[in-house]
Amino acid sequence: MHRRRFLQGAAAGAASLALGMWKLEPRAAGARSVSRAATPPVYDGWADVYRARWTWDKVGRSTHFVNCWPQAHCAWNVYMKDGIVWREEQAGDYPQTRPDVPDFNPRGCQKGGCYSERMYDPARLEYPLKRVGERGSGRWQRIGWEQALGEIASSLIDTISEEGSDRVIFDLGPLYTLGVLSVAQQSLAMLLDSVSLDPNTEIGDGGRGLAETFGKICFDRSGDDFFFSDLILIWGGNPLYTQIPNMHFLTEARYKGAEIVLIGPDYNPSAIHADLWVPVKPGGDAALALGVAQVLVSEGLIDRDFVRQQTDLPLLIREDTRLFLRGSDLEPDGDEEELFLHDAERGVVPAPRRSLDLGELRPSLEGRFEVVLGDGTSVTVRPVFSRLREQLADYTPEKASRLCGTPPFLIRDLAGRLARAKAASTLCTTIFSKYYHGNLAVRAQALVFALTGQFGKKGSGLAGLSFMLQDGLQKVILSGLPLGRQLSLITDAVLEMARLWLRGYTDEMMVYERYRGLYESGELMSGALFWYVHGGVVQASDQLQDWDPHLGRPVGEVLEESLSKGWQHVWPRPGNDPRVMFVMGSNPLRRVRSYPLLLENLWPKLRTIVTLDSRMPTTALHSDYVLPVTGWYERTELKWVTGVTPFIHAGAKLAEPHHESKSDWEIFSLLARTLQQQARERGLATFLDRHGNERRLDDVYDHFSRQGDFGPTDDDKVAEALLANSSNLEGVTWDQLKERGWARFTSLGTSPIAIGSATEIRPDDTITHFTKHVFEKKPWPTLSRRIQFYLDQSLYLEMGEELPRHKDPPTAGGDYPLVLSGGHTRWSVHASWRDDALMLQQQRGEPVIHMGVLDAEAREIRDGDMVRVWNDLGEFQVMAKVSPAMRPGMLVIYHAWENYQFRDGVGYQTLIPSPLNPVELSGGQYHLRPMAPCLQPSHTDRDTRVEVARLEPSPS
Ligand code: SF4
Repeated sequence: MHRRRFLQGAAAGAASLALGMWKLEPRAAGARSVSRAATPPVYDGWADVYRARWTWDKVGRSTHFVNCWPQAHCAWNVYMKDGIVWREEQAGDYPQTRPDVPDFNPRGCQKGGCYSERMYDPARLEYPLKRVGERGSGRWQRIGWEQALGEIASSLIDTISEEGSDRVIFDLGPLYTLGVLSVAQQSLAMLLDSVSLDPNTEIGDGGRGLAETFGKICFDRSGDDFFFSDLILIWGGNPLYTQIPNMHFLTEARYKGAEIVLIGPDYNPSAIHADLWVPVKPGGDAALALGVAQVLVSEGLIDRDFVRQQTDLPLLIREDTRLFLRGSDLEPDGDEEELFLHDAERGVVPAPRRSLDLGELRPSLEGRFEVVLGDGTSVTVRPVFSRLREQLADYTPEKASRLCGTPPFLIRDLAGRLARAKAASTLCTTIFSKYYHGNLAVRAQALVFALTGQFGKKGSGLAGLSFMLQDGLQKVILSGLPLGRQLSLITDAVLEMARLWLRGYTDEMMVYERYRGLYESGELMSGALFWYVHGGVVQASDQLQDWDPHLGRPVGEVLEESLSKGWQHVWPRPGNDPRVMFVMGSNPLRRVRSYPLLLENLWPKLRTIVTLDSRMPTTALHSDYVLPVTGWYERTELKWVTGVTPFIHAGAKLAEPHHESKSDWEIFSLLARTLQQQARERGLATFLDRHGNERRLDDVYDHFSRQGDFGPTDDDKVAEALLANSSNLEGVTWDQLKERGWARFTSLGTSPIAIGSATEIRPDDTITHFTKHVFEKKPWPTLSRRIQFYLDQSLYLEMGEELPRHKDPPTAGGDYPLVLSGGHTRWSVHASWRDDALMLQQQRGEPVIHMGVLDAEAREIRDGDMVRVWNDLGEFQVMAKVSPAMRPGMLVIYHAWENYQFRDGVGYQTLIPSPLNPVELSGGQYHLRPMAPCLQPSHTDRDTRVEVARLEPSPS
């Protein structure tokens, strides 16, 4: 019996007799099971039932390992009775970091507050399912685990032995934990030499502008550090929806006197908490920021010392080639990565690379200088700053206003606020990664922060993608490889680090290099690029030259160039079709823009599609096997969190698995065991990996299980190993963590997604990012070793994007009058609660499109009407929600609706071409090479053009 139905029935009184005959029993066969009571009833009426809600026999600690980034995660007490989770409550026991700043208590959101409902609702999968009709026909057969894993293992062996191990793909989605689940998936993927898809740029969180400028994307402050900001810019975000447990830090900072300025096209729900709303056209943010930069530079409001020491603005560029002046220009065997600056006393000298400390140097920011090259010719060079200042002449507030729609007086006002602020900050958002030219907007934002020296000081700085991680993950994954491979990987890594150290690479740069190697070897590849190439999504960019006036050649040609030059990497190689795909915590047929192309191009090539999930997402409907995984309170797990909330959270297994569901660890353990058994039975002892090396297939489970140390139900042991191998949690054990629920990070550790904050973590202080660069003068991980605004890679030069500039958004989808934008929803975390009854009750129960009053009136659309939305790619239908908060010409659909929630099952991503931006195909130069989770092509959606018409008559 469902727990909520049980309560409703009791409260109505109609079932009081029945209640007297039934009682909940400890579960063995599913949470909804009931049985005859052997003892007399304990409930006399609704009041007793209500009181019973507040009794329990067990309390445990857990959280929700969904991707609620950047609000992840929150400590919850989970109350259980008779083996059933009855309710959860925010724990509220985080420590106070320092007495003069607010603490983190309590943390939570409305989704997490009803997970105990969600885990028993009818959407949960109960048994392994096998498709018996056409894919997507909805015809399924319940099968046992043995059959499911046997058939999947058989398909894997056929594929690996006949066509190649890189034909096996793991699509990893937002539910990927980088905890126990990931040890399972990565261990199997590495043993089988298969391909794992990095989802970050595909989701639209690639942070390209950050990577281009800072050489990394993962960095942020802790939430309590906002208390030291006196100017907080919410630039392209809506924290009231996306940072529910963190929002109090902003309002508390405001009580202390901070000004909050919200910059965005619509008057979004967070705007009511701002002191100033600065409207901007969708896609106009680069022009706005450059307008601010123009005021700062022309009025002399810049921090010249910071600019000279921390940025590439003093570095010299050649007037003849538009390239940096390099060591290799001056001497035949000169260093490609040695760049130069001009000092009035010393002339043209190499820019320091091992430290940002300039010593006696005082680099020129203006001027033209002659340099004699190695071949005896002479060229003129000038500092980047002088090029930039000239370019900014195109962005006076009046000119910028024509591009971005923000009134000139507000551009000046913003510049004045930034110049006056003691500590200006932004909060974590990924909106600009979802614009085709979003990188230009972020480069321009970074410019105004650098010009005003707003980095490193408490409460200051542009936020990046917020991530923190227990750093034992790689060690535990490596322990699952054969000893010989472990030793060879470690030896290679040590030799490579020694080589890089001699070249002056910092620890941070060396870590990134190691992870670039993973990418180059093919163990990891860009999910976005996989869908573009193998999924055919690049076809939707066929008309890109019509939409982007700056593009001088077909983007397919740029893609070929990039792959042939090894700038970007695709596995399996184009022409070799993927055959087996595991979809884990992912939902590409809902999420991937232009997803119908996947069904058309990729699905027919796939022999076996396996979805692992706790419910039935859109992609599961089109899979061959659906394997039920345990819910969050039914499993052992730990997950990455964000720097905003620097606490790791534990999820203990509190309740028994729902029906026949299993944890991902158990599923992959059993699959590895079945695979090993079948390989032995079939006499297939070895296979050739994609590089031609022989690998064993008949001992996969032996290594996966660490020679029997980690059995199929040893999830706890894996969690324990993750913590025991981590350096950044100061010795907390799994048992301690399970009991306490959280532990504060003691350092950033060594993970590439955490070290970018470049700072110390002290137990009694807030966390401010970039102190190591700003105060310890550690170089930035870029080509120039500085915050880099000038990019001389050939594709940037071709597209005229060597410096930040404004470009009008492409008319993606065709020449239509309305821009379809989006946002993260308040009522779900990705799709995890999109079809949840409680959450749907707080909305309209179905997908809606937000549109402005004037646009609605012009089309005779009234609130609640069904509308048809279309462009060159297709159409879908949805309910209109008319709102005065919307900017004319702009529509918003908050994300993550499942396709089956729309009429005819056609989701809104049908209309989104996600044009492939050529600069995202670049590579070759040190910090523009791809790595996880950035510097790969990405998927974008905010430039989509559409038209809308009323579908049905308005109700009278
Ligand atoms: Fe916190 Fe995420 Fe759970 Fe909400 S869903 S309570 S933000 S962990």
